[in-house]
Amino acid sequence: MTGYEYYKPKTIEEAIKLMGSLEGARYIAGGTDVMVLLRQKKIAPRCMISLRNIADLTRIDIKDGLRVGSAVTHSAIEENEHIKKRYSALNDATTHLGSRQIRNVATIGGNICNAAPSADTACPLLVLDARAIIAGPKGAREVDLDDFFLGPGSTALEKDEIVKEFVMPPFDENTGSAYIKHTRRQAMDLPILGVAARITISVKDESEVRCRDMFCTIDSISNILSRLKEEGLKCEDARIAMGVVAPRPIRAKKAEAALKGKIVSPELFEEIGNIAAGEAQPRDSIRGEAWYRSEMIRVLTKRALIKAIDRVIRPDEAIYPERLW
Ligand SMILES: Cc1cc2nc3c(=O)[nH]c(=O)nc-3n(C[C@H](O)[C@H](O)[C@H](O)COP(=O)(O)OP(=O)(O)OC[C@H]3O[C@@H](n4cnc5c(N)ncnc54)[C@H](O)[C@@H]3O)c2cc1C
Repeated sequence: MTGYEYYKPKTIEEAIKLMGSLEGARYIAGGTDVMVLLRQKKIAPRCMISLRNIADLTRIDIKDGLRVGSAVTHSAIEENEHIKKRYSALNDATTHLGSRQIRNVATIGGNICNAAPSADTACPLLVLDARAIIAGPKGAREVDLDDFFLGPGSTALEKDEIVKEFVMPPFDENTGSAYIKHTRRQAMDLPILGVAARITISVKDESEVRCRDMFCTIDSISNILSRLKEEGLKCEDARIAMGVVAPRPIRAKKAEAALKGKIVSPELFEEIGNIAAGEAQPRDSIRGEAWYRSEMIRVLTKRALIKAIDRVIRPDEAIYPERLW
């Protein structure tokens, strides 16, 4: 590992100015991706510009939606009760990302700017309609997260630009979300694939108690879906995103459209899983083969959607233990 200079700016403006004036410089947040690349000799920056001392990048703001600074650690997101309740998919991702030690230093901005197809926070941010607020030498701009990822390791960031924060709209109590990370083992592993879902439902007043009761039984997903169909539970809006099934994390937009306005049923969820699988372009890799990923998209799309519905129907996990979907 060669030597490099290390800078610790206190403001975004200072960081951008440094980046413009120093040759061979690179931003570093938690360093859990950058330092691996450095040790593998894949990069050799002459200077590192740390983003960790910039107060404006480390805030979580829950007024009028959600704003998460790019240098917020995964641990800080994991511990935020509001995010857990209202932006559950993001909590799911941070809870299962790396080890406790990694989560304590690694940041959401680093995860997104590194742009790995397996980045765990990418799919949750996509289904939560996140926009990246970007600061650069020419001023600030906003990019929809769906337009941010260009390919493996490639983003819409231009020269010297910094992601300041991720902004998400507010969601009402009829909206729930979930992220399911499919790994070979439970402890510290990158996903074979990941699926996130957000769903807004409407349920008739007289059906509410029956729906809550059915989620408390030990029953198969198909049986629960059949009973939800009998109760007329309707999907008003939906988002589905998939990771490690294409060169970048993607939305399953055809599957989302096919869900909107429909009564939930086993047949519908089967169809949605198939449509989502058709929108992916999985490949063979050391973690899993393409055919297996396609099969698992069908399974996990269904599971993520029903987990999101469960979170609307039974918002208080303290009373009802979480099911193993
Ligand atoms: C042991 C281990 C386990 C891991 N497990 C997982 C896992 O389960 N799931 C997962 O998704 N990842 C995992 N990772 C990868 C990594 O921890 C995450 O991607 C992490 O979120 C990166 O954040 P960071 O702050 O450390 O980024 P850094 O390494 O500091 O930066 C990553 C990249 O983003 C750029 N960057 C950082 N912040 C900004 C910004 N605000 N604006 C512009 N550019 C920026 C940097 O220049 C760099 O190119 C793991 C890594 C290790 C070492």
